[in-house]
Amino acid sequence: MTSPTPALLKGETGEWELIIGLEVHAQVSSQSKLFSGASTEFGAEPNTQVSLVDTAFPGMLPVINDYCVQQAVRTGLGLNARINLRSVFDRKNYFYPDLPPGYQISQYKQPIVGEGIVTVDLPDGSVREVGIERLHLEQDAGKSLHDQHPKLTYVDLNRAGVALMEIVSKPDLRSAEEAGAYVKKLRTILRYLGTCDGNMEQGSLRCDVNVSVRKPGAPLGTRCEIKNVNSVRFLQQAVEFESRRQIDALEAGRAIKQETRLYDANTGETRSMRSKEEAHDYRYFPDPDLLPLELSQDYVESIRGSLPELPDAKRARFEKDLAISHYHARVLVAEKESADYFEAFVAAVEKRTTKSGRDIGQDCANVVVTELFGALNKDAKPIEASPITPDALAGLQALKMDGTISGPTAKKVFEEMYATGKQAAAIVEEKGLRQVSDTGALEAMVDKVIADNPKQVEQYRGGKETVLTFFVGQIMKASRGTANPAVINELLKKKLAR
Ligand code: MN
Repeated sequence: MTSPTPALLKGETGEWELIIGLEVHAQVSSQSKLFSGASTEFGAEPNTQVSLVDTAFPGMLPVINDYCVQQAVRTGLGLNARINLRSVFDRKNYFYPDLPPGYQISQYKQPIVGEGIVTVDLPDGSVREVGIERLHLEQDAGKSLHDQHPKLTYVDLNRAGVALMEIVSKPDLRSAEEAGAYVKKLRTILRYLGTCDGNMEQGSLRCDVNVSVRKPGAPLGTRCEIKNVNSVRFLQQAVEFESRRQIDALEAGRAIKQETRLYDANTGETRSMRSKEEAHDYRYFPDPDLLPLELSQDYVESIRGSLPELPDAKRARFEKDLAISHYHARVLVAEKESADYFEAFVAAVEKRTTKSGRDIGQDCANVVVTELFGALNKDAKPIEASPITPDALAGLQALKMDGTISGPTAKKVFEEMYATGKQAAAIVEEKGLRQVSDTGALEAMVDKVIADNPKQVEQYRGGKETVLTFFVGQIMKASRGTANPAVINELLKKKLAR
């Protein structure tokens, strides 16, 4: 299902269309930097992970990190993109106090990855294909620390030279919601690939958002770029504020100036940072210290051969092989760890029972999505911190499937497992929760409830059959949920019919 044209924004002069393109800087999950052997570990003491290359010491030469190149190719393949067998590193010249060489090594006219496509899942269940313009490799800058001293700014070069993949989308996004969904999907794909940890709080994934508005069908308007947005929520808020700002300005007869803006999470507003520079202002030229990067098709194919199953393929397989609903499949594949957990759970259930595949898939999905994710969400815990392992959960599922415990009892046992980390079988024995299906044992309970409630018996015999649920409820309560409801129903009907 492809999404319909998103809702237009209303202004005083009519409706406006929102045009959004994103530049995402994704830090390569690499232990060392793009052109030096210095460590990239997060959180180290300032300036302890800096090589002479990173400080642009005279005479130092960059050496390309093969691992980072592999990750860029891997990411390009995961984005269904063309891999350019020849790419070139350029110097992008500008002054930043935390950029010692006075230039950033980046790729300009010949990036390592060309056009690709990302399928974005929208909250209403529809999908939208978003074009990727390019992905290029570049170095990160260091960090200026303005809050360490009242009068001085400190510089930390630990981040200087860390490898980034800049992933540029086409201006295909039409709402704040789509922009958020795109970043989430991109992050999911990167995490499946293992090429970037996607941690927005630590800055491993940062978004620059280009926003413009136009009357439907009109040429593209002037865009503003909002820099370094570091959460999906802020991204959506920034787009909402900025589009409204531009519409209001245009409707008041003011022109939009092309500029770089900052989003302030405290006020929810964007504000002007600097007028936008053009590419020629950077005086790009090929870095004379680095040869063009040439890859063989065999190299690319060997990386293609090592790609994991990606979320879209996994979702389709869950729907087909496990008969899981589209909604549940989407939720399960949204994080690689969740999908891994679920698959381990299904495999463990198959090992413990005689059923498999489409016969158990949806029920297993319900348990994981409703019970487990529900409990984890309440505690704001990730799946990796689940107190119940996939195998332990399968133990519970098997007890439910073979009738040892009832569905409602299974929910109670789940809660106990979640709270204590105990195995299902141990809890069932300890608390005597085994479902009683033995007719003899249940008959006594049925007789007692009939004897204790003459008024309801009269009602039932008078034709009010709904009273049956009252009797079932009484017996379930008396048996603490262990009575088999199907057997009780049958016994009750038999006895009350007399
Ligand atoms: Mn960049």
